Amino acid sequence: MYGGKTRKGIYITERDGMAVVKLDSGYNIGVDPVSCAFSGHLPEIPAKKPDVPQKKDLPGLSIVSTGGTIASRIDYRTGSVTSQFDAADILTAIPELANVANYRTIPLATILSENMTPLIWQELARAICEEIKRGVDGVIITHGTDTMAYSAAAISFMIDSPVPIVFVGSQRSADRPSSDNAMNAVCAARAATSDLGEVAIVMHATTSDDTCAIHRGTRVRKMHSSRRDAFRSIGIDPLGSVAYPSGEVSLEEHAVRRGCRKAGIHDKLEEHCGLLQFYPGMSPDLLEAYEGCKGLVIAGTGLGHVSTTLIPSVRGLVEDGTLVVMTTQCMQGRVCDRVYDTGRDLLAAGVIEGGDMLPEVALVKIMWVLGNERDPERAGSLMQADLKGECTRRSTHGL
Ligand code: GLU
Repeated sequence: MYGGKTRKGIYITERDGMAVVKLDSGYNIGVDPVSCAFSGHLPEIPAKKPDVPQKKDLPGLSIVSTGGTIASRIDYRTGSVTSQFDAADILTAIPELANVANYRTIPLATILSENMTPLIWQELARAICEEIKRGVDGVIITHGTDTMAYSAAAISFMIDSPVPIVFVGSQRSADRPSSDNAMNAVCAARAATSDLGEVAIVMHATTSDDTCAIHRGTRVRKMHSSRRDAFRSIGIDPLGSVAYPSGEVSLEEHAVRRGCRKAGIHDKLEEHCGLLQFYPGMSPDLLEAYEGCKGLVIAGTGLGHVSTTLIPSVRGLVEDGTLVVMTTQCMQGRVCDRVYDTGRDLLAAGVIEGGDMLPEVALVKIMWVLGNERDPERAGSLMQADLKGECTRRSTHGL
């Protein structure tokens, strides 16, 4: 019995005290074994994980696991998806990975990415740096998709790397028929052994299982809550693509190449920063709540505006030593506060224009800049400089 109905299916295994049954639709459900009538034999459950063979002539990659759907399965007691696998489990579950490289696995966390913190970004940066020092050919980070772009931006600022650092996740867990975990992981491994030399996110490019896109870590956003092709490069073209199943990697001219940057780490962050989305009618009290913050990014309207009623509070923050950076809520284009009087008043109040940086990238960057530079003028100039491809000189025209 399940959901008040009698259903027939194939018993697969026991998990969490529930019988896992595959229905004709392909979906697995967890059923209380007491309410099951079994006919025929139960399949044997393999007890031992298969070993992943090491092949001499393949490149060496490290997989640092942090959690997310790519490391998840359904908890059959509750029906919810929980993040439980580490990098070694992922490797065992996706045998195709063994054709691409030899791997070291580093289990850093098993969290859903809404629980990610700047402290874990720092641990992640140190773990990646260790792997680069060991001389691996590339590093893969398995990560929840929800905040993957924040982490990719954080690692972009904290680490200089001569080898690819590739973030990958999946929108659907391994035990779902339409899971994207295996294809994304294999494409990530291909990108991590390619000529790429920067931090990137590799995820499904289309609704089919034929291509993954390679996105720059500072110019990418999750644009859909559930589609497998949820990630898009914003304001620039993707850095390249990985064809599946051939594994052929094509890199565009603007992708930084392997070996172009020397290994380095600057892992200090100033956490006492905020990101505020302006909306019509916003009360100045909300801005005042940021008093004492070291940095504040505002996602303003259009060319980078807030209402005239907020400007005295913005000025107050700047006078008290908060670095205030204006970005735009528009997905494309850049801030220009010299056009309208509200913009000019914001500039006079001491606001820094954030160019075409995505607001969430500007937040991560302000944490990094203020963690490494205490001089307000130099910190302001760094916010406007293009450090890791986060600011473009010319935006693409597309929407
Ligand atoms: N909310 C979870 C996370 O970001 C699951 C989403 C996912 O991994 O796709 O970790």
